[in-house]
Amino acid sequence: MTDSRNPVIGLLGGGQLGRMLCEAANPLGIDIAILDEDKSPAKQAHDTSRHVTGSFKDPARIRELAAQSDFLSVEIEHVETEVLEDIEKNGVEVKQADGSTKTHKPPVHPSWRTIRLIQDKYLQKEHFRTSDKAIPIADQVAIESGPAASSSLKAAAAKFGFPFMLKARKGSYDGRGNFKVSSEADFDAAVKALGGLSLYAEKWAPFVKELAVMVIRTEDDNGRLKSCVAYPAVETIHEDSICTKVFMPPRNVSETVCEAARKLATEVVSTLWGRGVFAVEMFLLEDGSLMVNEVAPRPHNSGHYTIEAVPQMSQYKAQLHAVLDLPVPQKLTPRVSSSIMLNILGGATPSAHLKLVELARNTIDDDMDVYLHLYNKASKPGRKIGHITLTSASPIHELEAKAKPLIELVDQIRI
Ligand code: ATP
Ligand code: MG
Ligand code: MG
Repeated sequence: MTDSRNPVIGLLGGGQLGRMLCEAANPLGIDIAILDEDKSPAKQAHDTSRHVTGSFKDPARIRELAAQSDFLSVEIEHVETEVLEDIEKNGVEVKQADGSTKTHKPPVHPSWRTIRLIQDKYLQKEHFRTSDKAIPIADQVAIESGPAASSSLKAAAAKFGFPFMLKARKGSYDGRGNFKVSSEADFDAAVKALGGLSLYAEKWAPFVKELAVMVIRTEDDNGRLKSCVAYPAVETIHEDSICTKVFMPPRNVSETVCEAARKLATEVVSTLWGRGVFAVEMFLLEDGSLMVNEVAPRPHNSGHYTIEAVPQMSQYKAQLHAVLDLPVPQKLTPRVSSSIMLNILGGATPSAHLKLVELARNTIDDDMDVYLHLYNKASKPGRKIGHITLTSASPIHELEAKAKPLIELVDQIRI
């Protein structure tokens, strides 16, 4: 346990989200102890003797982290939750200076209950659908594994028609557990691609746009909800199931729909447990209605823009405040008229993204501020290695026109 006066958050995972969390924590004097490999992106951004080397799926290392943390939190949902539950309920033994031991129980935020539910995308959405808020989701059915998979897929096709989406229930990110099934001829390839994993099928959502809303959830130490506050709605562009661009505000989407998205997002997050920021990914359908795709219980790619574009608090500072039970704003409004976030993804060669980085570094424009964030990760095809946030006092379509050279380079990198 810490003897410093600075609060210590033990963080499972040290990727770019953890790195940006550290960047927010540093000026606030909040210590972040990271459990991940040495020199992971987050560890590079924050120096502390409390970092733990190892896997955020390893119970022994998670206990080691817990022993020196005031709170535990995550930057990734694919962690071991059994041990988080045990730590919260029974604590970890910590050696005192006099040789005696003491039980230490750091609270886990968001709750392990939330993380466990969200890990299984099928159960996550059943929870939303059956909650008293009756949250709209795409129709879904669980798919049998093994030899029964084929008949189970046939039944899904009969129910949903083609195409439908076959998804891994657990462990997926950046679309790496998804397979679009266009006809019966795809069944074998789909099962093979997602081989061995527990699967479910989802009705194809004929969306016109994808929207996302970050929500700050606070509750007291007895688990009573205090508030759910929504950030502005954004439009997310996914190509091959990976987020490439984010637009704030969404292009050609009415204010009414944006407000409906924020309301739905707060309802979704209110059904979960624990403190922190959450991303709610949604589909906007042709008739203007919304459907929830999935929730991430942590800071999110679609909320990077908040660092520069939201004056009250970025999603990272909000995560710190929520976890530590410090005050959070009750209103989140942009400081600019528009913002665009462009992901820098690794290309076919390790230098494929360098032209984009160079252009971002060299762009100075009175009507467009350019903020480059590199994560110091090795480039691999399709890997998120950085992002660029653009902000402007002009409307979103004007910012988009101005950003064209950068956007074109983003598109060129794609493999
Ligand atoms: P993330 O990196 O956001 O965690 P993920 O791997 O969990 O992604 P999903 O969010 O389930 O994957 O899907 C990725 C993308 O695939 C969605 O943003 C959307 O573009 C598309 N997609 C997912 N489900 C459907 C669906 N039912 N119908 C149509 N497109 C879909
Ligand atoms: Mg996901
Ligand atoms: Mg997603």
